[in-house]
Amino acid sequence: PLNTTDLIEEHRICVCVRARPLNKKELTTKDLDVITVPSKDVVMVHEPKQKVDLTRYLENQTFRFDYAFDDSTTNEMVYRFTARPLVETIFERGMATCFAYGQTGSGKTHTMGGDFSGKNQDCSKGIYALAAREVFVMLGKPNYKKLDLQVFATFFEIYSGKVFDLLNRKAKLRVLEDGKQQVQVVGLQEKEVKCTEDVLRLIEVGNSCRTSGQTSANAHSSRSHAVFQIILRRRGKMHGKFSLIDLAGNERGADTSSADRQTRLEGAEINKSLLALKECIRALGRNKPHTPFRASKLTQVLRDSFIGENSRTCMIATISPGMASCENTLNTLRYANRNY
Ligand code: ADP
Ligand code: MG
Repeated sequence: PLNTTDLIEEHRICVCVRARPLNKKELTTKDLDVITVPSKDVVMVHEPKQKVDLTRYLENQTFRFDYAFDDSTTNEMVYRFTARPLVETIFERGMATCFAYGQTGSGKTHTMGGDFSGKNQDCSKGIYALAAREVFVMLGKPNYKKLDLQVFATFFEIYSGKVFDLLNRKAKLRVLEDGKQQVQVVGLQEKEVKCTEDVLRLIEVGNSCRTSGQTSANAHSSRSHAVFQIILRRRGKMHGKFSLIDLAGNERGADTSSADRQTRLEGAEINKSLLALKECIRALGRNKPHTPFRASKLTQVLRDSFIGENSRTCMIATISPGMASCENTLNTLRYANRNY
């Protein structure tokens, strides 16, 4: 298992995978676990351990990442290896980004936002909250205290190429790019936060806004990217920004053949943005001067996070352990598994 001494200190891009346990539904349908994390940076997709009559043979496949988190790993532990090393970046005038990528139901929101499954919704254990807590701890350190920084938060959603403010009753916002290639989301609410509790309140507001007011709330939220940002300002000027993103579900199979035009369009838009994202991260890793951020609204809005010398990114690929999800799991692992 992972130990805190395994932390890799210096990398611009960190890619890891997180498997969740089999859930109730998978247990009821007698789905079988086909995922093993044999070491701290390897994940295997294999035949189920139980003897079953397989209609098809599942070949063993192994993928290597910076870190692999098995189904007993807590959010706190995932956080320590992924987002936490990036918090310092924003104090050092940098840009940090952390993505959760994976199929719907694989654990993206659980990882980023916290536990929303039961009645007692708890966002205090999600990476949004854990990162915010760290920011306030860092603010108190002598080096940073003297900078007199202010902390702000934004929370918005990108759905079918359109931006909606989750802290302002889903107001639809325009994205403008000026002559200097600066991208601005016009009218986006930036709320000042003084403590972790302020941040938790905003996360709750945003989350309830995200999943309500729609005919099929879950379907909607799985098809949108949610972006939560912690912004440091010094005398009004941006000092650093941490963007934490719960991406839209990456499963697309059903969309392309859907009879519903809107569904097909949404699917195409998600595909496009996830491909653009991969290209932008790749460009960041290679220090390429050209970052193809205009290819989607998501990458356009995140433009300033992909450029600049002090930009760091982390991708958490979340996977479902069941055999029924195998196709999607392999797609997720292939997408994330790159030699950046
Ligand atoms: P996604 O956002 O990717 O669609 P969710 O985060 O909503 O998926 O997770 C789907 C379900 O699985 C939720 O009920 C969630 O609480 C549960 N879950 C996800 N990850 C874990 C985990 N690591 N441990 C326990 N339960 C999890
Ligand atoms: Mg979700």
